[in-house]
Amino acid sequence: MEISVVIPLLNEEESLPELCSWIMKVMDDHGFTYEIILVDDGSTDDSWAVIERLSVRHSSIKGIKFQRNYGKSAALNEGFKSAHGEVVITMDADLQDSPDEIPDLRRMIVEDGYDIVSGWKKKRYDNTFSKNIPSKLFNAVTRRISKIRLHDFNCGLKAYKNKVVKSIEVYGEMHRYIPVLVKWAGFKKIGEKVVEHRPRKYGTTKFGWERFINGFLDLASIMFVGRFGKRPMHFFGLWGTICFVVGLLLTAYLVISKFIDPEYALTNRPAFFLALTLLLLGSQLFLAGFTGELIARNSPERNYYLIEKKIGI
Ligand code: UDP
Ligand code: MG
Repeated sequence: MEISVVIPLLNEEESLPELCSWIMKVMDDHGFTYEIILVDDGSTDDSWAVIERLSVRHSSIKGIKFQRNYGKSAALNEGFKSAHGEVVITMDADLQDSPDEIPDLRRMIVEDGYDIVSGWKKKRYDNTFSKNIPSKLFNAVTRRISKIRLHDFNCGLKAYKNKVVKSIEVYGEMHRYIPVLVKWAGFKKIGEKVVEHRPRKYGTTKFGWERFINGFLDLASIMFVGRFGKRPMHFFGLWGTICFVVGLLLTAYLVISKFIDPEYALTNRPAFFLALTLLLLGSQLFLAGFTGELIARNSPERNYYLIEKKIGI
């Protein structure tokens, strides 16, 4: 099978028939072998009934329904697990992404050898203040921290080599950072394609203001887990040592001062409180480091690695 299209959806009953016929038209025009995996993330409208109807009529349309709403990341993750296509394409269900981009995205994966190609909604049809401006800021920060040169990390329209989606786990709200997850999994060819974006035709957006706070917290954890997830002591131990040593030096200074001048009022000095705080903080950081190491060592993924090639085995 050449292409799997994975579509996470929450209450998108009006869009689904139109979206599926459009995708099928593009696939048939190009003669691709394909499947469309619709992941219903706990819709409360008639989305699932629509999916059932569509899948009866077209064998290439498959559906997965969650018991409740788990979030876009979970829906993508589940879709990735079932994807058989050599190239996996993700897109939103609300008709904001155009299926006409599929052939070019596929070509970039198959012919240009990209591991992942992320869409770039260069001209965006969303609310300027609640979406477009915050999104520019979000992308600038993510670009700086992750050192991945993309303009639009969170674009729903993306293409992957099958191997890539099988190597990453998208959890929590990490769908915003899939290119970062892909990079951490060791894939280097990360590309971008300007894609057509359209106004939402039916329904409403599923993401509100809370996504900014959650988004930045997730970026902080993803960078931390990526760098220190398997060696937490290298982070906590470093800062713990710095705090402890500075605290110790200050203590030594205070003790020596007291010896030289018995009148020296120890507990009146800022240095005294600073030393105390630093010593406590230092040991706390060490404890956090040890606890982190214990958790990392007991994690089922402690020895998880991807083998790219083998010879003679
Ligand atoms: N979505 C989902 N689960 C959720 C929220 C959203 O599967 O909990 C889907 C939604 O149905 C759509 C895609 O994720 O297909 C993008 O959501 P939306 O269009 O609301 O986001 P926006 O384009 O406004 O950023
Ligand atoms: Mg949308």
